[in-house]
Amino acid sequence: MEIFGSNVFNDTVMRARLPKATYKALKKTITQGTALEASVAETVASAMKDWAIEKGATHFTHWFHPMTGLTAEKHDSFISPTEDGKVIMEFSGKELIKGEPDASSFPSGGIRATFEARGYTVWDCTSPAFLKEDKNGSTILCIPTAFYSYTGETLDKKAPLLKSMEAVSKQALRVLKLFGNTTATKVISTVGPEQEYFLIDRNFFEQRMDLVLTGRTLFGAMPPKGQEMEDHYFGTIKERISSFMKELNEELWKLGILAKTQHNEVAPAQFEIAPIFSTTNVSTDHNQLVMDCLRKVALRHDLVCLLHEKPFAGVNGSGKHNNWSLGTDDGQNLLEPGNSPHGNAQFLTFLCAVIEAVDNYAELLRISAANPGNDHRLGANEAPPAIISIFLGDQLNDVINQLEKGGATSSKAGEILKVGVATLPEILKDTTDRNRTSPFAFTGNKFEFRMVPSSASIACPNMILNTIVAESLSQIADKLEKTKNFNKELASLLQDIIKKHKQVVFNGNNYSDEWVVEAEKRGLPNIRSMVEALPYYISEKSISLFTKHGVLTEGELHARYEILLEQYTKVINYEAKTMLDIAQRSIFPVSSRYAAELAGNILSIKDALGTAPAAEESLLKELVATNNLFLEKVNALEKAINGAAEIDDAYKLGLYAHDTIFAAMAELRVYGDKLETLIDAAQWPFPTYAEMLFLL
Ligand code: ADP
Ligand code: MG
Repeated sequence: MEIFGSNVFNDTVMRARLPKATYKALKKTITQGTALEASVAETVASAMKDWAIEKGATHFTHWFHPMTGLTAEKHDSFISPTEDGKVIMEFSGKELIKGEPDASSFPSGGIRATFEARGYTVWDCTSPAFLKEDKNGSTILCIPTAFYSYTGETLDKKAPLLKSMEAVSKQALRVLKLFGNTTATKVISTVGPEQEYFLIDRNFFEQRMDLVLTGRTLFGAMPPKGQEMEDHYFGTIKERISSFMKELNEELWKLGILAKTQHNEVAPAQFEIAPIFSTTNVSTDHNQLVMDCLRKVALRHDLVCLLHEKPFAGVNGSGKHNNWSLGTDDGQNLLEPGNSPHGNAQFLTFLCAVIEAVDNYAELLRISAANPGNDHRLGANEAPPAIISIFLGDQLNDVINQLEKGGATSSKAGEILKVGVATLPEILKDTTDRNRTSPFAFTGNKFEFRMVPSSASIACPNMILNTIVAESLSQIADKLEKTKNFNKELASLLQDIIKKHKQVVFNGNNYSDEWVVEAEKRGLPNIRSMVEALPYYISEKSISLFTKHGVLTEGELHARYEILLEQYTKVINYEAKTMLDIAQRSIFPVSSRYAAELAGNILSIKDALGTAPAAEESLLKELVATNNLFLEKVNALEKAINGAAEIDDAYKLGLYAHDTIFAAMAELRVYGDKLETLIDAAQWPFPTYAEMLFLL
């Protein structure tokens, strides 16, 4: 309790340090979204500086989320010279609310030309300022900000997220009003992201240039043992890991992050951390800090945290489960069905809005889960599949079937679990079982979007969720605001929505081949790669959605499309070049030398015994043949990489990266991994999967 939030300029600190009127005004901006006054900023800045300096801070920074998907910071010290040759510590309201980083070196998707450098960061008072503290004592005051270009376009992930929160609040309030709720003044989108990650020994990491440069292994034969025993998931946490987790939790708690759940994940060396949910804005900021702290604290324990979606081929990858819901400022969770969902018309309306949104805008959700790493998971026979569908569970599925027929009159009740042992207490079962295969599952009072990439910011998925749900809510409000017979109109509206959109509901096994066939019959999109997904961002449908709700302009959408496309092409390109380098300079020299060594051995045995050792000869033949094929694939990859120079269209380049370069990498890997199984373990140039995954 003492350390929680100790590095956060939070409500308690503000209440204690700000004059009452300033505190009230700021609080009003934070909770009700009213405009922020300059005089308030001035007073807050001064209090914030005093607090930070008392805690050892020497610098401040505007902390923002550029389109790199990472966070950015530039430190300025508080010092200001005085006439007597000394300094005083200063921090003005202007410095708090506005910063001016050079915008030209951040991805802008053509919004900024390199010579047009001006960009602004603007204080987001709805996410609290905090102190970043390093082991060596360096302490920096971080002020969460949104990042804009000189011309006012957003250059970051925060501003659109904030706008989407306002959009969904506005539309949800319209609907709530129709149900007679007049006390709620704001609807808040919330998220609790479960973060998966790997930890490996730092010593192994440093011997693998693929991990160092790309975050994933580009070569690596399957170890004799993988995750088949299912013995890691929820297993006893090793002491080395639990001491890492202890320090991680303490760091996160200091930052006011509600770190709650931790466990071993499915793959060996894989783990998860989940905080308690918060607003989509604060949670997004916190998730970036969680990823930062994971990396930082791991190093203190001579571990390296891998956040890549697929660090090890053939072993489960990592994702984020984005648990999303809507709540009101008067304390309701709008996705809480209650004991009898069939009779909870307001809940059913919000449920239908989500179903409609997900069905109408599945392509956008797919984009929100697209990054180069996730291409190894989505649509590649791993959890979850690339087809977006919703799991509702028995109870709600039954209720929507009733709705489709014109009205719901009953809900299946929860039952008592028969434990059959007198000493064990009776427990009430949930009304529905879980479905671990669904990409978008209803889990009691929230939806769990399970496709989100482990290394990415959760800003985009939540910005898209908020916006698409705002759109269905606005359609619903448009219809219901006009009607005189509310109940009748509502019943027929919900019936229509279910009829039209229940195709997106699927309660079966999403990993089965039958589902792929069935989904195609239903006309659901199955977008297998990031490149294939991106053009939907700039479709007419997408542009009209985002502009209608004031979340992104057409220009901003085009910019985002270009940034993501370029990021994809660049990632594949540097991965391919890294692979080529490892193949040519690490693997081939070893395999060639080993072949010569074998050949020498065979000759000396023949010399000594008069007959050649047949089995060794055939091993040598296999090795030489594999070496040849390996070299052929090396040349093919090199040719593929060079081929990109002839393409100038950005989209064609992306496609080329996927269809040609990425494909050539997969072919090369087959022979590299085969060589690993043929060559003397002592000579293999880097740590194996078995070492990295099991020696912790
Ligand atoms: P799982 O059983 O899926 O592993 P966890 O308990 O690990 O679930 O994580 C569930 C997450 O959902 C937590 O972060 C939790 O705070 C979050 N959550 C709970 N209620 C809400 C809500 N109303 N809105 C958003 N997230 C929520
Ligand atoms: Mg989960």
